Amino acid sequence: MIGWTTTLPMGEMSLMKQLPRFSIGVGDRFAHQAKAQLAACMMAKDAGLEVVPVWNKSNREHNIIGSEPSQTRKAADAAIRELGWTAPYYLDADHINLGTVDRFLAPCDFFTLDVAEMIGKPADAADVKAFVARHPELIGTVSIPGITEPFHTDETFVTNVANKFLAAVQDAGKIYRYLVEKKGEGNFVPEVSMDETDSPQTPVELLIILAAIADEKIPIQTIAPKFTGRFNKGVDYVGDAAQFSREFREDIAAIAFAVAKYGLPANLKLSVHSGSDKFSIYKSIHDAVISTGAGVHLKTAGTTWLEEIIGLAEAGGQGLEIAKEVYREAYDHREELCAPYATVIDIDPAKLPTPVEVDGWTSEQFVSALRHDQSNPAYNASLRQLLHVGFKVAAKMGDRYLKALESNEESVARNVTTNLFDRHIRPVFLG
Ligand SMILES: [Zn+2]
Repeated sequence: MIGWTTTLPMGEMSLMKQLPRFSIGVGDRFAHQAKAQLAACMMAKDAGLEVVPVWNKSNREHNIIGSEPSQTRKAADAAIRELGWTAPYYLDADHINLGTVDRFLAPCDFFTLDVAEMIGKPADAADVKAFVARHPELIGTVSIPGITEPFHTDETFVTNVANKFLAAVQDAGKIYRYLVEKKGEGNFVPEVSMDETDSPQTPVELLIILAAIADEKIPIQTIAPKFTGRFNKGVDYVGDAAQFSREFREDIAAIAFAVAKYGLPANLKLSVHSGSDKFSIYKSIHDAVISTGAGVHLKTAGTTWLEEIIGLAEAGGQGLEIAKEVYREAYDHREELCAPYATVIDIDPAKLPTPVEVDGWTSEQFVSALRHDQSNPAYNASLRQLLHVGFKVAAKMGDRYLKALESNEESVARNVTTNLFDRHIRPVFLG
């Protein structure tokens, strides 16, 4: 459509709206914590490091809560003004596709193109053949600087990978071109996400996927592969942390190689859809980006909503009552609440206290069970995960919940900021 933009190489297009090296995705379910979240980024700045905030909220979350992306925009802009944040910030239409993107178009400037559903769907046989023919460099011995052992591939392997991912990448191309038509080239940050799928992608698969993305001319700035291990919502990583660390470094190397080889934007980096709170891999993420000079986008979301509940419980009185009510309702509707998140939670029903038991708890007991402090023997990962998916309960309370947040703002904001800075920003970005 716009002639001049299509002649720009992808590397230069990205300069128009360029995501900085370090960024953190902060979900804000009820659009009440933008200021408290931004305060954590300000603390990073005071410590000498720019970590830019990206407010992400998926279509699923908006649907469950009954909110609109424009509300997130309003809350973010207000926080930016109030705290005088001068660095960039973004709003991420998280996990969208052509069917869901429209209401995100105006308020958002970061789009996570979710093509996981298309993974494994066969692409046109001629397209696969053409892809393999176009990329002889992917066949044979593939040496990537930064990875000790070269990969050995053959035509069958690359064909199989293309069969698995090409249709998904082509789908991303369709969404990307739709966004360009609606928002204009370079006016948004494109991310491609493949995390919500069954099997992790290996570094060599990632390289092949990036070749296909470059062919589609999508100037992606972040890519979210599925990493090895389990990324359950709101709790720590479950898996082989050493293997994660190795693959994470190899992914970084594959990205640097693809940037040089295929002309993808120079700021292209990994996006870790963490599901929040993957504390045991934060150090390896930090060490890998610092030693390679790479960037990283850490996407969290529900951790902030849980801090709202912690803040309410800690405040005592009415706040504690609301927190207990959320637990009671979540407990009573646990099957319905868990269903949409079945593959990303792991709750042991035997470990869930009954609502009657919780009703007798003090602030300290409630907070100890919920706060993600694994050194506290009272910490209860099952309760935490149930409350993590229980935000629909608070949404149903409507104004009553929002009023409680407002009347306990000090306690809630303190927990939101401290959690984001101490438990996420510090270990991942500052080290
Ligand atoms: Zn994701």
